[in-house]
Amino acid sequence: MAHTLAGRPETATQAKVLKLLRDEGPLSRVELADRLGVSRTTMASEVSRLTELGLAEGAGPAASRGGRRSTLVDLSSDVRFVGVAIGATTVSVALTDGRLTVLGQRSIDMDVRLGPEPVLARALELTHKVLAEHGVTRPAGVGVGVPGPVDFHGGMPVSPPIMPGWDGYPVRDALARELGCPVLLDNDVNVMALGEQHSGVAKNARDFLFVKIGTGIGCGIVVDGQLYRGVDGCAGDIGHIRVEEFGPTCACGNTGCLEAFFGGSALARDALAAARGGRSPALASLLAEKGELTGADVAAAVAMGDPFTVQMIRDGGHRVGWVLASLVSFFNPGLIVIGGRVARLGHPLLAEIRGVVYRRSLPLATGNLPVVLSEMGDDAGVVGAAALISDAIFAAP
Ligand SMILES: [Zn+2]
Repeated sequence: MAHTLAGRPETATQAKVLKLLRDEGPLSRVELADRLGVSRTTMASEVSRLTELGLAEGAGPAASRGGRRSTLVDLSSDVRFVGVAIGATTVSVALTDGRLTVLGQRSIDMDVRLGPEPVLARALELTHKVLAEHGVTRPAGVGVGVPGPVDFHGGMPVSPPIMPGWDGYPVRDALARELGCPVLLDNDVNVMALGEQHSGVAKNARDFLFVKIGTGIGCGIVVDGQLYRGVDGCAGDIGHIRVEEFGPTCACGNTGCLEAFFGGSALARDALAAARGGRSPALASLLAEKGELTGADVAAAVAMGDPFTVQMIRDGGHRVGWVLASLVSFFNPGLIVIGGRVARLGHPLLAEIRGVVYRRSLPLATGNLPVVLSEMGDDAGVVGAAALISDAIFAAP
């Protein structure tokens, strides 16, 4: 079976139908007409055009609502997207159907600092493997997230602090050439926000912040259902907000950035110093065992009840909370989702962040403000990357 996409929507109504089917599953023609405020005759002709284009298909009779029975419409079962999540230390590729359900996934550990050619070569290799495993010759499109600022219109990273060698590299166009289909590139945090919006805890949120705490720290901003990228694509780069005037030097070259206190590499640095300085027996024994320490070891030490690492998490959560309290005053979001690897420190971290946000923001802004952990884990990146490209494929001409 060859999954190739025949066409793209030709009208705004067709595009809206595709997005509704993607986000909500099969709907009857009558429901589609009512939801989009068009006549049933118009909807019938739009749906048959989408079927001709190979984008939609019938899905059996709908439950009767009295009168003539309507037919359910679904996305074509041939539609396939690929989401690629390039992280600081991993590359993950997932194949999804039109509704962004993951059909197959592959991941490897790889350091993004090796530079664009080797990392993209491995990403392509994983993509071809996943496509071959599912008999897909050409996906409808591929979305890609990378851990640094991205010129969204140019499809390339711009001066990414933790991605040496990637500045100005034409990632989008290089991959589109190799894969023979549309490709879009965005930063990993924006992509994860889209994943949360489609399949995660932000599913029904119109205005929310997705905060990623991993090797880097960043924030995806969704306003009225749409990702807000800012004029140059670097909105939400909160990891480089200065939280103390004289602090550790950051990968960006400044001092005292939030990320330099609480990103994954900052945690590893502080953990190593504590282990060597005799301040944490738990970290010292992990260091003796493994020869190095990462953010994951900090989580292990916290789980062991090690007082020094518990305090590290409290301090870090406190600083993240300060920054978020400012963002809450500025943006008045309806939800804050915390994700990324460091967020796996879980409830001790969340409790600290919540405490500061609720204490330091005005009651009106936090009266109805859930601050929650992501439940998607690594899927937020790949599903969000697929969502990114699906938005473009299912867009009006
Ligand atoms: Zn910085």
